[in-house]
Amino acid sequence: MNHARFFFAVFLFLAGCTAAQAPAPAADTPSPPAVSPSPALALEPVLAATAASTAEPTPLPPTLTPTPTAPAVQVCSPLVEHPIDELLLIVSDPYYRPPANNPEGRHHGVDFSYYRRGERESIAGTGVQAVLPGRVAMVLADSFPYGNVVIIETPRAALPPDLLEAAALEEGESLYLLYAHMEGAPLVQVGDPVEACQPLGAVGRSGNAGIAHLHWEARRGPQGTTFTDMQFYDTRAAQEQIDNYLLWRISGVYRHFNPLELLFPGRVFPTVTPTPRE
Ligand SMILES: [Zn+2]
Repeated sequence: MNHARFFFAVFLFLAGCTAAQAPAPAADTPSPPAVSPSPALALEPVLAATAASTAEPTPLPPTLTPTPTAPAVQVCSPLVEHPIDELLLIVSDPYYRPPANNPEGRHHGVDFSYYRRGERESIAGTGVQAVLPGRVAMVLADSFPYGNVVIIETPRAALPPDLLEAAALEEGESLYLLYAHMEGAPLVQVGDPVEACQPLGAVGRSGNAGIAHLHWEARRGPQGTTFTDMQFYDTRAAQEQIDNYLLWRISGVYRHFNPLELLFPGRVFPTVTPTPRE
């Protein structure tokens, strides 16, 4: 009996499929009504026409079901001429975790620099580009210590899961990436939307830089911040500029971490701490 029921059910199913397919000429119709320049807009009329042509609510094939997918986020090297897998070879000064008694201490970012690499005699003039898409949160020209510098904010919602985990952002926080010591005035303005790989300038030695290098910093902090002028280590700096610098650097509101963790998610970088002075 069970076998008989099964074969009968299969017969009904096949008959149902045939019946459902028969009155659906939309695919062969030379001029279907659902022609649109936008694929997203075209999908809905096609689904509606298919549903209307069937006598009973047959489930749609999975391929026609519009499912929201997370937007792919492009991640670029900060240096135009050096892909991500080359960067660890040209780190001239690593990220240091500051000592407990000196939050300003040592090095809040990572430096890239070299002499004589391949055809190049120096990193000077190499293009600097945005690692992630976002919004320009600060642009300074010839300031101290950062020189010609750009900060770009990438909101939490724009990060893919692996980068979100690497950045360890809390609710209401954004990722801020800083590109410093560029050769000339930055190519972007505060508030500009930025795409990944968008040119920001070129490697230089503006600000507090003995040699040409890119100083690249990553911080997590409250979303939507636009940073105004910040200066330090300069007797001409106004108090407001000093306060802005300290807010970014040591207030604890914008917490820095090794930016290389963003380019190599899951990789553990050794914690470098300054050698204590005796
Ligand atoms: Zn540096």
